[in-house]
Amino acid sequence: MCQIPLKSKLYLHRLKRSPKYWTTLSNTHTITPMTERDEYTPLDRYRQLSDKSPDLISRHAPEDFSFIDANPAVEKILGYTAEEIVGKPAYDLFHPDDRDSWTNRGSSVTYKEGVYTSIYRFCRKDGHYIWLETTSRTIRDPQTGNLEEILCVSRDVSERVLAEEAMTRLARVVEASSDLVMFSGEDHLISYLNEAAQKTMNIDKSRFPTLHLDELVSRKNYQRMLDQVFPEVIEKGNWRGEIMLTPDSMEERIAVIQQIIAHKSEEGDLQYFSIIGRDITDYKKAEEEAMQHQLEMAHISRLLSVGEMASGLAHEINQPLAAILNYSRGSLRKLEDGTISIERIKQALELIAKQAVRAADIIKRLRSFVKKTEYQRMDFRINEVCLEIAQFLEQEARNDDIQFQFRLDSSDPLIHADKVQIEQVVLNLLRNAIESYRIETATDQKKTKVISVQTQRKPGQMLIQVQDRGSGISKQQLENLFEPFFTTKENGLGMGLSISRTIIEAHGGRLWAESDDNRGTTFTIRLPQGN
Ligand code: ADP
Repeated sequence: MCQIPLKSKLYLHRLKRSPKYWTTLSNTHTITPMTERDEYTPLDRYRQLSDKSPDLISRHAPEDFSFIDANPAVEKILGYTAEEIVGKPAYDLFHPDDRDSWTNRGSSVTYKEGVYTSIYRFCRKDGHYIWLETTSRTIRDPQTGNLEEILCVSRDVSERVLAEEAMTRLARVVEASSDLVMFSGEDHLISYLNEAAQKTMNIDKSRFPTLHLDELVSRKNYQRMLDQVFPEVIEKGNWRGEIMLTPDSMEERIAVIQQIIAHKSEEGDLQYFSIIGRDITDYKKAEEEAMQHQLEMAHISRLLSVGEMASGLAHEINQPLAAILNYSRGSLRKLEDGTISIERIKQALELIAKQAVRAADIIKRLRSFVKKTEYQRMDFRINEVCLEIAQFLEQEARNDDIQFQFRLDSSDPLIHADKVQIEQVVLNLLRNAIESYRIETATDQKKTKVISVQTQRKPGQMLIQVQDRGSGISKQQLENLFEPFFTTKENGLGMGLSISRTIIEAHGGRLWAESDDNRGTTFTIRLPQGN
């Protein structure tokens, strides 16, 4: 048992400052259970305390803060044994960023009633930095006032500091979040609103303590929250949905509560609610704009198709009118010359009537298209349509010595489509085919003028082909063929093919052309069909 004469405080300080004393003490001093309490001196008791303490108790020289002594906890906390650390300047082990804080008494160092408390990073023997919280006291010579040494009690607070750092970071995330975050107690008084919530709802911080959730939503919604939402949050811990935020202070913004989380203690007692919302003003605006855009698009596309249809049909109507004019003028002339028989007049009038019927038919189609809001689909026989349209154009074809040839599917298939529109497409293709022979070159004169119309049923689809051996289409023209207003004809409108493709695509099908440049063209319509 080591006996230290406690003559005076000063003596003890001086004695304790000597490294020799402390090393001797640590080496020789062993704590053995005492049966008689009197045998302990007060120093023994402190020694026992120090040896058992999980905190690092150390003494330091004022100049370089070197360790004069350290209790056994130093090994667990810093990895050094007491012997190893004695004499080491503590300043060398400070994290460079924290060293100045110590010497300059930075913000991490606090002073209260003669005791400094500081939190800083300190290097362990293995090179890792840990966070220490140190309470230190300076020991001065009572006579001279000179600084003699510094006593420190340090504990490893790394876990706490890192947790606090994580908390601070989290708090910053919540604060900076663009989502609206609010905390409320069980009484529904709002204790916190992050910046986004304050801004969106135009609520000043000073309102927090008395702000109640029922001021942020309509009465009906608050009742719903009381009846359904909160019971669910309390039971399941979480609720997701949408409740409009409508505080009086909010101007021109639209925001909703989307989630409520119940935070409970480990014992399961409700502590507070997190209420998370979102400012959906921009989203709503974008949605409205998209809707508006869609409406405009629908309107424009309808106008366009009506316009396309109208100009296409105007083009079609021009032809029977021109034919009527020709027949009437020719007949009139012959009547004036007296060179026409009654029979011929009758024939001419019949032709005129036929053309007039055609014109009326076209107008009827235009009217039905404009009237219609949707395609009127029905089952009809495609072979029949092809034959009827060819018949319709027969006179025109015959005038140019053109013959129609049919290779129609023998099963006489039914297709499900808008009959009037499909008729229009077939009519357009057949008329183009007739016209293709009018641009023939002299070398092609001997060609037999044939337009072949083919229908073919395939699994899940129906093919309709119109093939001519007319002028053909150059590669370059093929690229623009379906563009509106693309025409090579003097009086052409360039709308027929563009309208035709629109119609076929509206039926979920495809229309395309193949041409070998000068030996004719094949147009193919492919329509999807049930088998
Ligand atoms: P248009 O009524 O002006 O003829 P279309 O859209 O029907 O308009 O056709 C556009 C152009 O495509 C025509 O001007 C013509 O040059 C070309 N075309 C269409 N069909 C044929 C065809 N069977 N053979 C050759 N060229 C064709």
